[in-house]
Amino acid sequence: MFIGHYGASLAAKRLSPRLSLAVLFLAVQFLDVLFSVFVLLGIEKMAIVHGFTAYNPYDLYWMPYSHSLVGALAWSVLAAGIYWLAARRFPSRVRRLAAGVLGAAVFSHFVLDVPVHTPDLPLWPGAGAPRIGLGLWNHRWATIVAELAVLAAGGLIYLRRSRPRSGGVRLGTRIRLRPRRDHARDFFPAGSAERAGVRDSRSGRLLRPGIRRRSGRSWTPDDRTRRLTPSARRAPAPERSKYVR
Ligand SMILES: [Zn+2]
Repeated sequence: MFIGHYGASLAAKRLSPRLSLAVLFLAVQFLDVLFSVFVLLGIEKMAIVHGFTAYNPYDLYWMPYSHSLVGALAWSVLAAGIYWLAARRFPSRVRRLAAGVLGAAVFSHFVLDVPVHTPDLPLWPGAGAPRIGLGLWNHRWATIVAELAVLAAGGLIYLRRSRPRSGGVRLGTRIRLRPRRDHARDFFPAGSAERAGVRDSRSGRLLRPGIRRRSGRSWTPDDRTRRLTPSARRAPAPERSKYVR
């Protein structure tokens, strides 16, 4: 599976909004990233065999470390562990959920690969390990429909989290500068836009002053009403613009 993996990342964003979409995009493709690196290093192997399946020409005959069941589990636990160590500034409940969701996002790659791959996914590293794969790649249009269905399902789950209040545009294409409903904010760490201040995208003029980071923990949008620093409270009221609603 290729673009279908991104459906899993969009659904994961709904489960743990604290995770950046960019990180989730990387997580769901992490096993393929590893596979690419391992192939370049000669650790794993593939061959281009025209007509190997109806969907692609990849004979993925040796990928025990990136795409075995045990390997995928190990990489998932590793990713969750690294996030757990790196996200110390978050409350432990949020941190635990985000680490778990990130690990699940990594493992979702293996789960979604099983229906489409030919039987080339080993259960564990080793030459004699049983290999699984249901072979949907042998049916070109069924594969395309499956990819799009998984992507669309994840996209719908994601959009339900951030539905615009007003009518008109409903697919998240409208630019909003308010952080709580800004889709672009999903790609940046929580609170980064607020700390940097908000600028008019056309004139570059500062619309809302930046907010200084409190010691020991970062400012998040949820703190907007109750945890402003004294310097931010004294700051002049932001100038209204037609770009801020
Ligand atoms: Zn893969």
